[in-house]
Amino acid sequence: MEESATLDRENVESAAPMMPLNSATISGRIEHNVPLSKMTWLRVGGEASCMFHPKDAEDLSAFLQKFPQENPLILGAGSNILVRDGGVAGWVIKIGKGFRTFQASEHHVDVGAGLLDRYVADQCQKLGLSGLEFMTTIPGTIGGGLSMNASCYGTDFADRLVHANVMDPFGKIHILLPQELNYGYRSCGLPLGWIFLGARLMCTPSNPEDIALTMADMHLQREKTQPTMVKTGGSTFANPQQGPAWKYIDQAGFRGKKLGQAMFSEKHCNFLINQGHATAHDLETLAEQAKQAVFDQSGIALQWEIVRWGEIIATGR
Ligand SMILES: Cc1cc2nc3c(=O)[nH]c(=O)nc-3n(C[C@H](O)[C@H](O)[C@H](O)COP(=O)(O)OP(=O)(O)OC[C@H]3O[C@@H](n4cnc5c(N)ncnc54)[C@H](O)[C@@H]3O)c2cc1C
Repeated sequence: MEESATLDRENVESAAPMMPLNSATISGRIEHNVPLSKMTWLRVGGEASCMFHPKDAEDLSAFLQKFPQENPLILGAGSNILVRDGGVAGWVIKIGKGFRTFQASEHHVDVGAGLLDRYVADQCQKLGLSGLEFMTTIPGTIGGGLSMNASCYGTDFADRLVHANVMDPFGKIHILLPQELNYGYRSCGLPLGWIFLGARLMCTPSNPEDIALTMADMHLQREKTQPTMVKTGGSTFANPQQGPAWKYIDQAGFRGKKLGQAMFSEKHCNFLINQGHATAHDLETLAEQAKQAVFDQSGIALQWEIVRWGEIIATGR
């Protein structure tokens, strides 16, 4: 029996690890004036005034107690974030190295939020665990996937989630069930300022060769339909109920359209591409022009899927 069926609020509470609430010293790295363009796939935008790289969950808890945060920005692999040219004034917390645990059982894996989705898919394939193949082509982390409810080929994170380990803004750990996270298409109800630390994801024992074939097919599909090896944030807009966003962007004449070095991909016109030296302003302006054109033409109000951070600065364009 798959595990989500056996879990309820009572037995999850009893499984929650104890995190001592103390004022222990912080051992993770603190940096100032960090260029976010180097840490995001679109390769644009200004600096983060302060960045914290927690060593582990305990360290993150100590940090949050020492520097209470109203709404810290959480960075995973930066594959879904457009940082504006003016940068970010507050703290950015990078969920990386300190959150890369992986533990497998027969019907689930316990994975840290800092692991790359592709790594998790590869490990599961080697172990003959099916269900997470869809992660093989998503370039983000587990934390980013849980936050965006990332999906492809018909499966999303919420489908496979048994429970998530999260930290509240006061540094306390909670274990939340999928129904408590109020998941929807590309949306998650985790309150602002809360941080994913990891998750238990459901799997089913299967043949490693079959899993490898499925994943290879997904990569093939990806190469056929989407630009690869480019500076992009993936889909710029979420698909509206009426159909795929790319169709409306195409109809509005934005396939291959450019502004400076920002461009909508010829291959998949919901993908914005930085051709080399685009500014965040160029990328955002071009996308807003497409959004307006789609609305004028079809009355559909596209919603940004890419998350935008920071301050706009005038560039003169
Ligand atoms: C080439 C390409 C292909 C893509 N294909 C797909 C696809 O097929 N399907 C799909 O759904 N998406 C796709 N994406 C978008 C992106 O990869 C996913 O949304 C991914 O899950 C984001 O993970 P990340 O670690 O990069 O998150 P980031 O980009 O770093 O962050 C995205 C959001 O998640 C939040 N976040 C990140 N980590 C945490 C955490 N630990 N706790 C709380 N919040 C957190 C951030 O604050 C931000 O709001 C694609 C992107 C690219 C560049």
